[in-house]
Amino acid sequence: MCGIIGLAAKREVGADLVEGLLALQHRGQDSAGVLTSDGTFHLKKGNGTVAYVFNRKNLSRLTGHAGIGQVRYPTIGPGSVEDAQPFYVNHPFGLAMVHNGNVTNYFDLRRELIERDFRQLTSFSDLEPILNILGQELEKQDLRRFSASALFRALSGVYRRVKGAYSVVTLIHRRGLLGFRDPFGIRPLTFAHGNGGFGFGSESVAFDRLGLPHLDDVKPGEAIFVDFRGRVSRAQIRAPHPRPCIFEYVYFARPDSVMNGVEVYQARLRLGERLAQEVKRQGVRPDVVVPVPDTARAAASSLASTLGVDLREGLIKNRYIARTFIMHGQDRRTLSVRQKLNPVRSQVAGKDVLLVDDSIVRGTTSGEIVQMVRDAGARRVFLAITAPPLRFPCVYGIDMMTRGEFVAKNRTVEQIREFVGVDALVYQSYPGLVEAVPGPRPASLTPRSFCTACFNGEYPTDVTRRYLAQMERERQRWLK
Ligand code: SF4
Repeated sequence: MCGIIGLAAKREVGADLVEGLLALQHRGQDSAGVLTSDGTFHLKKGNGTVAYVFNRKNLSRLTGHAGIGQVRYPTIGPGSVEDAQPFYVNHPFGLAMVHNGNVTNYFDLRRELIERDFRQLTSFSDLEPILNILGQELEKQDLRRFSASALFRALSGVYRRVKGAYSVVTLIHRRGLLGFRDPFGIRPLTFAHGNGGFGFGSESVAFDRLGLPHLDDVKPGEAIFVDFRGRVSRAQIRAPHPRPCIFEYVYFARPDSVMNGVEVYQARLRLGERLAQEVKRQGVRPDVVVPVPDTARAAASSLASTLGVDLREGLIKNRYIARTFIMHGQDRRTLSVRQKLNPVRSQVAGKDVLLVDDSIVRGTTSGEIVQMVRDAGARRVFLAITAPPLRFPCVYGIDMMTRGEFVAKNRTVEQIREFVGVDALVYQSYPGLVEAVPGPRPASLTPRSFCTACFNGEYPTDVTRRYLAQMERERQRWLK
């Protein structure tokens, strides 16, 4: 999961790009980067959060009315500074690129580009093949006359060769900004415009403070090019097969974002209502509902009101500790849970507490939290999860883990309950998930039009066993 942004405006955009990246910081904290253009490319990128990478001095060098930026969280590769985005090539035109997603034929493309096409790659980022292939496909066009239609023809070649999930923003030197999204629209991409400016970004929230009031999605399989005079060209490069990631609504995205026409906060409220039905069905009767902060808050509030039970902030979060999901290594994760969360004794002591969380991945974090609440004096601890059991790895840009690490792999719900050490465990049902997220609208998103592969193993793109095995090996290699 990464956050990307691109902006073009009548004013300098360096500070706005950093502001937009701050709004997308939850999507990746490993590295941050911005490239601007004022006739020359200016680039600053490094490992760490946005606040760590950027300062007044380096921001003053990011001059120009157009630029792109990214916050990264690694999927493939060691996560070194060489993998930080943006990337650029000087020819043709000068292309600078950022992306969110994961290219599932990365290893084949990498080999092809190096061994057959003699291209130099400088990193293990799967963005580099996309960038190089766009360059190659543009070279097949008439480079003396740049046009949106030539660009879209070149993109057709990119779509033919690149497989997997990719939402991409490209700055084309002196020409304009391009945003495009894979035919399944797995990762989000918003198109924003108004007040003489325009931009692309992973979530609508990136634009809330940037004065671009009109928001739209780049459709699955669509490309939008806006030249620096503000002329917009849109083309459907591939037929759309919408399968946006459903887990964005459960966990990743900010609740104040709207993606694919669905507000994340509303989706989480509906998840809580549906989960309350499961809690009732299983005869679980808590004295108090406590969200595991922060993602589960909205769902916990609607669950509590549906059950008619008090909602209490019984766990307090230290905001200055990184998200545990993103941290690598079990020891770091366990330490981080105790650093990050602390119980409010008065709200849990002597009570039957229903904790609400968004997912159980390895089970160790949930076990730590349950024990923490017991240590604070809870009589019984129940756990309700806003999504069904996670059982399959994500190959589309979410570093969940290899399949062997999932607690739900080869375990029944009762066995997971025992593993986590909780008195009752209630999962969201699969129909509850796919019906709650889109809600009654929009009609374009039916319950079946989401990617739900990490729950049921139904990958929208071809995913070979060979690729899954290779991904697992790579992940283990970089985690050592
Ligand atoms: S596998 Fe899961 S996390 Fe990955 S894109 Fe699909 S729904 Fe999202």
